[in-house]
Amino acid sequence: MRRLIAGTGWKMNIGAAEAACYGSELARRLALLDVSAVDIFVLPPFTSLHAASAALAATPVAIGGQNMHWEDSGAWTGEISAPMLVEGGCRYVELAHSERLYHFGESYELVGRKVDSALRSGLTPIICLGETAQEKSDGRTDAILLEQVLTALAGQPDSRVPDVILAYEPRWAIGGAQAATPDYVAERHAILRRNLKTHRGQDAAERTRIIYGGSVTPENGPQLISIDDVDGLFVGRAAWTPEGFARIIEIVAGAAQSKRSRQSD
Ligand code: PEP
Repeated sequence: MRRLIAGTGWKMNIGAAEAACYGSELARRLALLDVSAVDIFVLPPFTSLHAASAALAATPVAIGGQNMHWEDSGAWTGEISAPMLVEGGCRYVELAHSERLYHFGESYELVGRKVDSALRSGLTPIICLGETAQEKSDGRTDAILLEQVLTALAGQPDSRVPDVILAYEPRWAIGGAQAATPDYVAERHAILRRNLKTHRGQDAAERTRIIYGGSVTPENGPQLISIDDVDGLFVGRAAWTPEGFARIIEIVAGAAQSKRSRQSD
């Protein structure tokens, strides 16, 4: 059984002082919930990593970076490496977010090098996958997702595939008014898993977690997380307050219990 995940990325929001308040309020709220069946992560901006990690130290919430360089060190002004994230208390790193692809021209070949470096340093890469609105209307979505995942994982043996988290984030659904419909998400996740089986084997298909992101809210979250192949929710705006994120975590924790009892029936 794959452990469910609740995660949020703060983008370029929530500086260090605010992160400390967010962290202590989230910690207070989580103390009232049973979240033992859920993996939880927060991805603050680099300058808020320390404050967030200190405020959440006594909770099960793990911290991660929103990006990294593929080299461990060197003449790369303005960049941060995987060993630096580890030293800063990170367990996760987000790669290939739509905004990195769109604004900074990152390619999945580059993402593959970052995946390699992250895994060598012991970080769990959260690899975003997603089609643009144009690719969707051209009917190319599943082919695009397959190409992205195979390129990002090209350097990894099949046995390492379950060490990454795949985040299906349709690029047209991020930051918008509406998430993808549950039927659409169910189909994409099922096809992704089937493709993983074909290309990287049964174990990779069964153990790799595929989470959904893109305009998730406390209203649509319960239906999205109840889908069999959806192993978690990755949330932007709706989790930028501790109240909002606690609600999402509670939804995922509830789904973990129902998925578990469904499996044992
Ligand atoms: C995101 O940017 O990855 C994201 C999921 O944002 P939102 O939830 O705000 O659409």
